[in-house]
Amino acid sequence: MTRILWISILLFVIIFMVASCKTQKGLKQDIGEADLKNSKDSVQENHFDLSDSLLEGEQGDASQKQTPGKGDAKSRTSAVADSSLKNYKYSWTDSENIPPVIIIVDDFGYATGSLLQSFANLPKEVAFAILPDLAHTQAAAQAAQNSGRDVLIHCPMEATISKTSPGKRYLKPGQDGETVRDMLDSFYAQMPMAIGLNNHMGSTATQNKDLMQTVLEHLRTKGLLFVDSVTIGNTAGYRLAQSVGMRPIKRDLFLDVPDNSDATIAARISDLGRFRGRVEPVIIITHCHNNAKLVALQKFLTQIQDMGVRLTSLSGWYGSGGVALGN
Ligand SMILES: [Zn+2]
Repeated sequence: MTRILWISILLFVIIFMVASCKTQKGLKQDIGEADLKNSKDSVQENHFDLSDSLLEGEQGDASQKQTPGKGDAKSRTSAVADSSLKNYKYSWTDSENIPPVIIIVDDFGYATGSLLQSFANLPKEVAFAILPDLAHTQAAAQAAQNSGRDVLIHCPMEATISKTSPGKRYLKPGQDGETVRDMLDSFYAQMPMAIGLNNHMGSTATQNKDLMQTVLEHLRTKGLLFVDSVTIGNTAGYRLAQSVGMRPIKRDLFLDVPDNSDATIAARISDLGRFRGRVEPVIIITHCHNNAKLVALQKFLTQIQDMGVRLTSLSGWYGSGGVALGN
C-alpha cells in the first residue's frame, strides 16, 4: 500500500514537472513572440518616428525647447539609425526674443528684366541662390553683387520624385569624387563671388552619405558654407557637416509653401514664435519664380520689421566663407 502511495506521489511529481516545463516553454515562446512583435513594432515606430521627427525638424526644431525629453529621444533614434550622423543641436536661452531672420531666395537663373531687378531692390541682407548653367545665371550673379548681397550656388541635385530634371548637370549618388568636385568647381566658376552652396531639389542626393561627404569636404577646402535646403526630412547634409568640420546650417521654413497667400504669410509669422529664445537665426527660403512671390516676401519683410525682428545675412552671421563681397 505504502509502495503504491510512493509511486503515485512520484508519478504526480513527474506529471507536475512535465506540465510546469511545458508551461514555461509556452511562456517563453509567448515572450519571444511578444519580443519579436515589440521589436518589429519598435522598428516600424522608429522608422516612423525617424522620418516623422526629421520632417518635423524641417519646420519645428523649436519643439525641442518645450519638450526636451522628446527631443532627446528623437536624437537617440537618429543616433541609432546611423551613428556617424552627428546630432544637430541649437543653442537656447530663456529669452522670449525671436532670433534674427535670414532670407534666401532660390532658383535665380531664369529670372531676368524687371523681375530680377525688383528682387535686387530687396534689402541687401536677402541672399540670392543662383542656379548654374542657365541663360540668366550671370545676370543674377551680377545683380546680386551690384546690390551687395550674398550669393549661394544653388546646386542642382537628383530628386526622388520629380517630373522636371534638376538641371542640365546635377549631382547624384554613384558619381565618383572627381566628377562631383569638377562639377562643383564648374558651378563655382560661374559665380566666384559665392559664399556657399545650397541644394536645388536633391531629395535623393542629399540622403546619400557618400555623395554628401564628398560635397561637404570639397566645400570646406574651398571655404564655402553649406546650407541644407532640407527638401527631404532624411537629408544627411547638415548632419554630416559637423563631422567634416563644417557648421551645420539648414532651412527652418519655406515662405511660399503652399502658396503666396496672406494666410500663408500669417502662418509663417506665427511659426516664428516657435523659435523664441533660439540663438541661431531662423533660415527662411522662398523663390523668385514670379511677382506674386516677390510681393509675398515684401509683405513678410514689412511684418517682421514691425515686430522688431532683425533681418541678418548669411555672411553676417556665419562669416563670408568664400570670396568676400566687393573684393
Ligand atoms: Zn531650387
